[in-house]
Amino acid sequence: MLRISELKLPLDHAPEALPAAIAARLGVAEGEILRWSVWKRAHDARKKAAILKVYIVDVELRDEAAVAARLAGDPHLRPTPDTSYRPVAKAPQGAARPVVIGAGPCGLFAGLILAEMGFCPIILDRGKAVRERTKDTWGLWRRGELDPESNVQFGEGGAGTFSDGKLYSQVKDPRFLGRKVLTEFVAAGAPTEILTEAHPHIGTFRLVTMVETMRAKIEALGGEYRFGHHVTDVEIEPGPGGARRLRGLHLKGGAFVAAEHVVLAVGHSSRDTFTMLHDRGVHIEAKPFSIGFRIEHPQSWIDRALFGPCAGHPDLGAAAYSLSHHCKNGRTVYSFCMCPGGTVVAATSEPGRVVTNGMSQYSRNERNANSGFVVGISPEDYGSDHPLAGIALQGALESAAFTAGGGGYHAPGQTVGDFLAGRASSALGSVVPSYKPGVRPTDLATLMPDYVVEAMREALPVFGRKIPRYDDPEAVLTGVETRTSSPIRITRGADFQSLNLAGLFPAGEGAGYAGGILSAAIDGIKVAEAVARAMVGEAVA
Ligand code: FAD
Repeated sequence: MLRISELKLPLDHAPEALPAAIAARLGVAEGEILRWSVWKRAHDARKKAAILKVYIVDVELRDEAAVAARLAGDPHLRPTPDTSYRPVAKAPQGAARPVVIGAGPCGLFAGLILAEMGFCPIILDRGKAVRERTKDTWGLWRRGELDPESNVQFGEGGAGTFSDGKLYSQVKDPRFLGRKVLTEFVAAGAPTEILTEAHPHIGTFRLVTMVETMRAKIEALGGEYRFGHHVTDVEIEPGPGGARRLRGLHLKGGAFVAAEHVVLAVGHSSRDTFTMLHDRGVHIEAKPFSIGFRIEHPQSWIDRALFGPCAGHPDLGAAAYSLSHHCKNGRTVYSFCMCPGGTVVAATSEPGRVVTNGMSQYSRNERNANSGFVVGISPEDYGSDHPLAGIALQGALESAAFTAGGGGYHAPGQTVGDFLAGRASSALGSVVPSYKPGVRPTDLATLMPDYVVEAMREALPVFGRKIPRYDDPEAVLTGVETRTSSPIRITRGADFQSLNLAGLFPAGEGAGYAGGILSAAIDGIKVAEAVARAMVGEAVA
C-alpha cells in the first residue's frame, strides 16, 4: 500500500473528487485503484477565500510497484507504514503484580498495556471513580466547595477528564504509539473521526464514559483499581554501594502495598508526593514551565479572523489558533491549550488557591474561545536552587490569585484594555468571562513578575495583528494560569527507572516526560513496556 500526503482539494469538494484526485496524482486510471482510505485530514486556511482540505491517504493499486518506481523521489509518496501495536513481553506464570500510581492518561495506558501483557497491575488513585469525581468537581464550580482529593486534577481520568480533550501532540512517535492510544479511545466510545482528523478533540462528556469503559477492559484483563488510595510514602531498601531499591508504598490511613515495580504517573499537581519523594532522596530536577493568564474572546471573532467568509462552515467547526512571540526581553509568550467554544475552569487542587485552565464539549459551541496566554520561565527565575522551587513559585502565585479574587475561589480578572493601559479594572465589558464560581475585576499585573507583564504587553498587539481583535480592549483576562506543565523532572535512566531508586518508573506529565493527554498516554505505554522488560529480565531495546 502507498501513502500519499499533501493531497489538496477545495473545502466543498464532492466525495467522488477524492478518488479522482488520487488517480490524477498517481497518473493512473481510477480503475487501477483497488482500495483507498483517509489516514489524516486537515484544512489549510491560509487563504481565507479559498480554504483547502489537505489529505493523507493510503492507496492499494493493481500495480503498486510500477507506480512506486515511476514516482520514486516524490517526497509525498511512500510505502504505508505498519502502525499496528505489538506487546513487547508476556507475563511469566505467577509474576508479581506491578503497581501504577495514578489513573490519568499515563497511568491508564500503563495499566492497560501491563494488563494486556498479563501482568495484572494494581492501579492506585488518591481520587474517586470518575462519576463521583465529576460531582465533586462541579461542587467547586457551582458552590465554591473544594475537595482536595477529588477535583479537576485528582481522580479517575486524571487532569484531562474535564477538558477540551485535544488529542494531538508534537512528540516524535516513530512506533505509532499514538495510533494505539486513539484506537483504544475509539474502542471505548470516542468518535471514529479522531483517527483521521489532524487535530482531533473529544470534549469532556465523552471522556467520562470512555474512562469507565477502559477501566472495565483493564479489570477484565486481570487489573485492579483502588480509588481513594493516596500514596504518602515509599519503602526503600538500602543496598550495597548506595544502590537503593523500592519495596513498597505506604498509603494515607496506614495501609502498605508491597511492590517492586511501580509506575509513578501522578500528574503535575501532586505536590505533596513530590515533596515526599524529594525528602526520601529521589533524584528530582527543576525544569522550565510557563505562567500567565487565560484570555477570552467571543468565538465569532476568532472564526471571522481565521476563516473569513467561510466562518460557520460545518466542516470547519469552531476555529482554533496557536500563537507565539519572542519578546525584546528574551521571553517567549504563547497561546496554550486553546479551547474553541469552551469555558475557563477553576483548576485548583489545593485550598486557598486559584488556578485557571480551559475545557469544552465535543460541540465546542459555547459563546467564548479561551486559551492560556503564558510566558516561558526557567529555573533561574524561581529564586532558589531547590529542585522544588518552581512548585513553591506556582503556589505563591496561586495564593495571591485567591486573595485578589476576593475568596470563595473567584478568579481575579481584567479587560485587555485596562491591562495594556496599566490600570485596574473596576468592571468588565461586553465579553463575559465564563469562569465559575465568578470573576472579580482587579489589576492582574500585580500578580505576575514584571518581566512576565512586560512580555505580555508586548505580545498582545503582535497577536492582534495576527488575529484581528485578539487585543481588543474588551477581551478578558483571568488568572492565574500556572499549571501549564510540571516544574520538575523526576529523572529516569535508559531503563526508565529513577536515577537513584530502582523499581520506581517516573512517567507522564508529573515526572516531566509528557505534556497533554496523548503524550502522557504514549509515555504510559513506553514505561509499561520498560516495566515488563524489567520484570522478565530483558534489557530495554
Ligand atoms: P494526570 O492526568 O494529572 O493524572 C495523575 C493522577 O494521579 C490523578 O488521577 C491523581 O489523582 C493521581 N495521583 C496523584 N498523586 C497521587 C498519589 N500520591 N497517590 C495516588 N494517586 C495519585 N491536555 C490535552 O492534551 N488536551 C486538552 O484538551 C487538555 N485540556 C486540559 C484541561 C484541563 C482543565 C486540565 C487540568 C488539563 C488539560 N490537559 C489537556 C492536560 C492533560 O490533562 C494532562 O497533560 C494529562 O492529564 C497528564 O496525564 P498524566 O496521566 O501524566 O497525569
